[in-house]
Amino acid sequence: METISDTAASPDGAEALPVPAFAEGWAPLALQPGMLLDFLAGLGERPFREKQILSWIYAHDVLDAALMSDLPAPLREALAGVLAPPQQRIAQVSRSSDGTRKLLVELDDGERIESVLIPDGDRLTLCVSTQVGCAMGCTFCATARLGLKRHLRTDEIVGQVVLARREMAADPLGPGHLTNLVFMGMGEPLHNVEALLPAIRILTEQWGLSISPRRITVSTVGVVPQMRRLLEETRVKLAVSLGATTEEGRRAIMPVTKRWSLAELLETCRELPLKRRERITFEYTMLAGENDSDDDARRMVRLLNGIRAKVNLIFWNPFEGAEHQRTSRERMQRFQRILLDNAVHATIRESRGPDIQAACGQLAAQVESLRASGIGAAPTD
Ligand code: SF4
Repeated sequence: METISDTAASPDGAEALPVPAFAEGWAPLALQPGMLLDFLAGLGERPFREKQILSWIYAHDVLDAALMSDLPAPLREALAGVLAPPQQRIAQVSRSSDGTRKLLVELDDGERIESVLIPDGDRLTLCVSTQVGCAMGCTFCATARLGLKRHLRTDEIVGQVVLARREMAADPLGPGHLTNLVFMGMGEPLHNVEALLPAIRILTEQWGLSISPRRITVSTVGVVPQMRRLLEETRVKLAVSLGATTEEGRRAIMPVTKRWSLAELLETCRELPLKRRERITFEYTMLAGENDSDDDARRMVRLLNGIRAKVNLIFWNPFEGAEHQRTSRERMQRFQRILLDNAVHATIRESRGPDIQAACGQLAAQVESLRASGIGAAPTD
């Protein structure tokens, strides 16, 4: 398939952008304004048709060109020849007793990822994955066990939101409409920033899925060079997984620290271009005897000095083969008290969906066990 040139001007002078090319064609859920202009001009069609096409895709969830009924028939036909509607689908839904739902999503190539729907009062948050597996190797996280298999494409990131919306639409008695997105699923979002940034654009723009960027949080283990870029190019909120309060402690559980030190990470946080009243959320998974002492709490107070921060204290969720222990609630409350007494905003985050392996750090367990059991596995030679 030919790709559209990125240099040709459109008939009305608007900027023509390259369409990402995939083996099977153009992925509808990666399209943005400007990408179809050359294609339309080649057919003698006016540029406004692009708006109609994007509206079908994002506002009406119609990805099949044949169903875009207000387009002329020749255009529908030509579009059908270049668009490749995604094959990704929800392979399995697991429901937790607390209302959390884990969606096992099978991708075009048979790889599987997980997205998690978390109802909380009038909020319904989707936890989105950005990679198949992860390269970061955090010892408290099940996804690390998979290693990095591949990055998700932009359309596969956006596709998780579309699939979750369909899941909710098909269930009128379910928890309602999606209100928030957190990029805290499988993978390190800022390790896949080239696919993430266009996905955020599609998710937030009026012509796209129109989700407020203030309702989107991207979480990172500290891919320092990309943190600034994220905040410069989008208006989403940033969360940083802190892990430990010393360089040594952090290196032991988060190998990424060997590349970008804790000091460098915090220095970057101090310099980030935050909006007014905005804070960085620091996620802190508590591990008994490793990072949960009073000294750790006092060190954290010092580390966060000068940063507009809030801290989420998170219970570690065990998974098979992991070598950590869970911090007790009493210990966590004492840790929180030290932070609060020193004017550090801190909350204890309750685990959601641990009975379906959907809680923080547990994703990947089901992907692997299904693979091991051969369910839905790709045929072998
Ligand atoms: S915590 Fe996040 S960055 Fe670390 S291994 Fe797990 S998915 Fe990757």
